[in-house]
Amino acid sequence: MSEKVVTRFAPSPTGFLHIGGARTALFNWLYARHTGGTMLLRIEDTDRERSTEAATAAILDGLTWLGLTWEGEAVSQYQRAARHREVAEELVRLGKAYYCYATPAELEEMREKARAEGRPPRYDGRWRDRDPAEAPAGVAGAIRIKAPREGETVVHDLVQGEVRFPNKDLDDFIILRSDGNPTYMHAVVVDDHDMGVTHIIRGDDHLTNAARQTVIYNAMGWQVPKMAHIPLIHGADGAKLSKRHGALGVEAYRAMGYLPEALLNYLARLGWSHGDDEVMSIEEMIEWFDISDVNKGAARFDFAKLEALNGVHMRGMDDAALTDALLATLPYLPNGEELAARFDDAARARLLKAMPGLKDRAKTLVELAENTYYLTANRPLQPDEKAAGILDDAARATLSEVLKRFQGLEEWTAATTEAAVREFAESSGLKLGKIAQPLRAALTGRSTSPGVFDVLEVLGREESLGRIQDQID
Ligand code: GLU
Repeated sequence: MSEKVVTRFAPSPTGFLHIGGARTALFNWLYARHTGGTMLLRIEDTDRERSTEAATAAILDGLTWLGLTWEGEAVSQYQRAARHREVAEELVRLGKAYYCYATPAELEEMREKARAEGRPPRYDGRWRDRDPAEAPAGVAGAIRIKAPREGETVVHDLVQGEVRFPNKDLDDFIILRSDGNPTYMHAVVVDDHDMGVTHIIRGDDHLTNAARQTVIYNAMGWQVPKMAHIPLIHGADGAKLSKRHGALGVEAYRAMGYLPEALLNYLARLGWSHGDDEVMSIEEMIEWFDISDVNKGAARFDFAKLEALNGVHMRGMDDAALTDALLATLPYLPNGEELAARFDDAARARLLKAMPGLKDRAKTLVELAENTYYLTANRPLQPDEKAAGILDDAARATLSEVLKRFQGLEEWTAATTEAAVREFAESSGLKLGKIAQPLRAALTGRSTSPGVFDVLEVLGREESLGRIQDQID
């Protein structure tokens, strides 16, 4: 039996949960689910100046909206500073790290020298082998790790393969600052070890950190977790992802009307594939996801694909579930609160009934919400510009005729109203569209809507006749 998989998502709370972070979380979550393991959450809030409570809240909220659940309480990295210090001091005791008292001026001099010689700036190891008794009095030192000087450090990456770092490029970096605070590099290692993390899945911008972190693991004699550095997401034009490309917080995607399952499906396919499958449910993603199928090349973010996929997910949802999803999302949509307030029980029932026709015509919940105008509008309707253009004198005359026939109907359904309109079309010689368009404009105030006979049935006799009469008057 192999050990139980423990993954973690470790965001820095310096901004919202952006789309790249959401994908990293998703891959960690899918891998944990796929293997029957667990995903942990660690908030990397050691940078006190840039970390905010609001960002932490936004990250938790974004993960929750996406359904990317974590096990137990989120761990605060900052709260664990004492433990990070303890391990750094332990490394000094083990002779694997040492106190360095180089002054800022000395460090600057080293950088200058390196620059002049065209080398990358590296600490020269001047306190590495010095007797601790030589420490200057009353000065707190920083703790530096004794990095190996010969050979190479190899990162066995599940996505990138074997990545070799010559040790001459890894200097004795600081693990504990002279003010007693751990560096980020060190905190991550101690936390991942203590949290029992078996698999680190994160963006490949952390690949060079992986080499330095490996040095710390080795110094402590700890097992290095398996690592998977996933390629970053680029814009559709191949450039680094920016706001223009979609590097927004996930809450922006909620406000644009994307379903969480569609966004997850889209993100899963950014950098991972399962044969030719494009549309997948969350269950399928869990079943199929494996790190070995993560691509090495950068993925490209494409809004058009996301939108198309969202439309597919919407159409595939059952009517009741999509109705619930829309109603739950309304408050997050632009002007959605106002619309949400209009959905009383009767309007909700109409929405459910109208859903088969509505969901065929929308790719996002925003479009879906817009198309529900006719379900909650109060008489007399305010036709939009296109609908108003349809309702000219000829159209009104047609509506009068239709109204008479409708008034005589005994039963009010899509089928009976359709039969009445067809009869009128035949007797008058008018094309069906010439009758349906004014009807649609009068009933919905729009030029597009679900099938007009379905609209008639959903609105019911009284409301339908009233709306038609309103436009004739
Ligand atoms: N906190 C880092 C970030 O937000 C991730 C560190 C890690 O996964 O090791 O980029």
